Amino acid sequence: MVYLDYAATTPLWPEVLEAMHEAEKEYFANASALHTPGHLAMNQIEEVRELLAEMVGALPDEIVFTSGASESNNTVIRTFEGHKIETSPLEHHSILESAMVYGGEEKPKLYSYMMANNETGELLDIDSIITKAHQDGDFVHSDLTQVLGKIPINVHEMHLDYATFSAHKIGGPVGVGALYIRNGAPFKPLIIGGNQEKKRRGGTYNTVGIVGFGAALKKVKDDNYYDAYANHVRKLRNLLAERILKKIPGSSLNTDIEDSKSLPNILNVSFRAAEGESIQLYLDAEGIIVSTGSACASGDIRPSHVLMAKTGDAEVAHSSIRFSFGIDSSIDDINKVMDVLPGIISRLQGISTLKMEEK
Ligand code: PMP
Repeated sequence: MVYLDYAATTPLWPEVLEAMHEAEKEYFANASALHTPGHLAMNQIEEVRELLAEMVGALPDEIVFTSGASESNNTVIRTFEGHKIETSPLEHHSILESAMVYGGEEKPKLYSYMMANNETGELLDIDSIITKAHQDGDFVHSDLTQVLGKIPINVHEMHLDYATFSAHKIGGPVGVGALYIRNGAPFKPLIIGGNQEKKRRGGTYNTVGIVGFGAALKKVKDDNYYDAYANHVRKLRNLLAERILKKIPGSSLNTDIEDSKSLPNILNVSFRAAEGESIQLYLDAEGIIVSTGSACASGDIRPSHVLMAKTGDAEVAHSSIRFSFGIDSSIDDINKVMDVLPGIISRLQGISTLKMEEK
């Protein structure tokens, strides 16, 4: 299999699997319990909290563990229920839909702007939004799900009030994430009915998942990792972009592959007159795994809201594929894609009702 869908979810690092197996055996006790096994489990959780806090420039008690980025996002948005909530149109559905449900007119206002988009990899400069929000007495949240482990983060230096993280985009398990809440920022728990996380998130601790998150953080924490990772995936990403543009008529990039413009691991491409879902299925049949826009929206036949916001062109949005790379990706993967992709696109363009001349 050629797996090029790392932005949707990543395979577990072997060290993560190992740490989780160990935790299943050693730290199964309820981490809130007063007995010794409970304390030992809690110590594991607190170690991960300290590690994550250190990695993102927060204090440990500003970190709350959640079930993932969707929960973290929903929690922040619901905290501002009845208040004005402004988001960028590029946000994940867990922001856009909860803002629609909970948004109102009251002050202060919440701004929710991601730093990197999951569909195109675009990097967004949110500094001016943060400055303006704070001048007006408002608050800022950033969904950093795609940023953690890719670019060094410091939430205090950025003056963020809230930030969202998820373990399964960095080689950790699905179902674990975290929310950074600046000390003193307003907060309303989404899940009530337990004293866990200092009453900020009820529910028995997911010790095994949190330990897995910690093991993944240790892998990406290494100072040398960022450069090695970025150089590796950027080289592959740019090579695939170059070969697609050269070989495939009607192809165009939705990712600006200039260094400072995008995450190094994502390449979003449109193929005129070829439908994204069909390309995905044909590639799947060849053992090549990619996604169309956001995997979270699969089963949803509306064109990607991100590409619609960026291009306003439904055809570009409908004909898009996201390739996303990881540390285990290789030139061989690119060669395998390029062995079959030109043929697939040409076949789909051949049966399209749109003529290539119009494209
Ligand atoms: N936000 C962004 C930017 C994402 O890329 C994703 C995952 N596609 C999520 C939120 C949701 O993450 P989780 O699966 O942890 O709920």
